[in-house]
Amino acid sequence: MMRLPLFEFRAPQTLAEAARILDGEGSQAMPLAGGTDLLPNMKRRQQVPKTLMSLNRIPELHQIDLSDAGTRLGACTTLSEIAADPCFRNGLTALAQAASCVATPQIRNMATLGGNLCLDTRCNYYDQNYEWRKSIGFCLKKDGDTCWVAPGSPKCMAVSSTDTAPALMALGARVRLASRSGEREVPLTELYQNDGIHYIKRQPNELLTQVILDSSHGWKSTYWKLRRRGSFDFPVLSVAAAARISANGVVEDARIVVGSVACLPLLAAEASKSLRGRPLSQDSIAEAATLAARIAKPLDNTDFDMTWRKRVTAEFATYALRELRGEDMRGERLLLRRHSSSLY
Ligand SMILES: Cc1cc2nc3c(=O)[nH]c(=O)nc-3n(C[C@H](O)[C@H](O)[C@H](O)COP(=O)(O)OP(=O)(O)OC[C@H]3O[C@@H](n4cnc5c(N)ncnc54)[C@H](O)[C@@H]3O)c2cc1C
Ligand code: SF4
Repeated sequence: MMRLPLFEFRAPQTLAEAARILDGEGSQAMPLAGGTDLLPNMKRRQQVPKTLMSLNRIPELHQIDLSDAGTRLGACTTLSEIAADPCFRNGLTALAQAASCVATPQIRNMATLGGNLCLDTRCNYYDQNYEWRKSIGFCLKKDGDTCWVAPGSPKCMAVSSTDTAPALMALGARVRLASRSGEREVPLTELYQNDGIHYIKRQPNELLTQVILDSSHGWKSTYWKLRRRGSFDFPVLSVAAAARISANGVVEDARIVVGSVACLPLLAAEASKSLRGRPLSQDSIAEAATLAARIAKPLDNTDFDMTWRKRVTAEFATYALRELRGEDMRGERLLLRRHSSSLY
C-alpha cells in the first residue's frame, strides 16, 4: 500500500490568509484543491510538499458569476458542477464537454477547475510508483538526470494532460493569479510554457483564483478527446474548437487548440486564421485540419503510437469543425466512446 508522506496541513478561510501562507512557505507549500491529482502524486513521491494548504474553505474560490457580459468561475468550482449546469452550453459547450470527460464521476465531484488548469504534466516514465522510477535511476523531471524519452535532451518533455485547458483556450479565457504582492490577469494562451517540469508560469506564491470568460454570445464550441478507455482515461490527444459564424455562414472568428501532444496546449494559430472570412466548407475544413495537425508533435511517452496520434489530430479537427457548422456528430462520438480501446 502506498502511503502519504508526512506533511503539515493548513486551511485558511480567506484569500489574504492563503496568500500569507504561500508567501511565507514559498515552494515548500502546495495548494490542495480536490486533491485528486496531488494526493496520488504525493503517494508516489513525485511531489513531497512540507505543507499542504487546502483551498476548500475560501468562499471566493467557490463563486460562479454568469451574466450576459461574461462568466467568472472561482478556481474551486468542481468539474461536476460545470458538467451538470445547463448554463455551460451553446458558446461554452467545449468547457462542459471537457469537464464531463475528466476521469470518473466520483473524481469529478472532488476535482476543481483550478486544479485541472494547474495539473502536472504526464509521462510513461514518470507516472509510476517510487520503486519503479528508482529501478531506472529516476529521470530529469524528479530525482534523476536523464530523460528516458530523449536521452540527449536537456529538457523534460512530459505531456500536458488537462482536458479543460484546451477548451478554455479555444474560448479565449483568462485566469486571475493572486499573491501577497498583488493580482494579475493572464490569458490562458500565455499561462503555459514548453517545458515538462516548469510547465506553468504561476509563481509558487501565487494562487489561481478565477477563470474569466468574455460573453460567448454568437460563438459555438466543441471538444474532442482521444483516450484508450471510453469510460475514463487521461487525454492523449484533444482538439478544442470555437467559432463565431455570421448569419450567412461565414466564419468571423475562430480558435482551434490541440491538447496533449506537447508540454502545453497548442493554439493552432495558422489553422484558426485560415478559417476567418470563409464558410465552413469541405475545402476550408480540410485546410484548417491539415494546418492544425502540422503543429502536433506527439512523442513516444504516453499511450498510443505517436504518428497515429498526429494523424488523428487532423481527423478530430475535421470532426470538430463539421460539428460547428451544424452537422450531427453524435454517431462519431458514440463510436469513439465505445471503441476507443480498439481504435489503434
Ligand atoms: C484515475 C484518474 C483519472 C484522471 N483522469 C483525468 C482526465 O481524464 N483528464 C484530466 O484532465 N485529469 C484527469 N485526472 C487528474 C485530476 O483528477 C484532474 O485533473 C483534476 O481536475 C485535478 O483537480 P484537483 O482539484 O483535484 O487538483 P489537486 O489534485 O488538488 O491539484 C492539482 C495541482 O494543482 C495545484 N492547484 C490546485 N488548485 C490550485 C489553485 N487554485 N491555484 C494554484 N494551484 C492549484 C495543486 O497544488 C497541484 O499541483 C485524473 C486523475 C485520476 C486519479
Ligand atoms: S519526458 Fe523525460 S524527463 Fe520528462 S518525465 Fe518523461 S522521461 Fe522524465
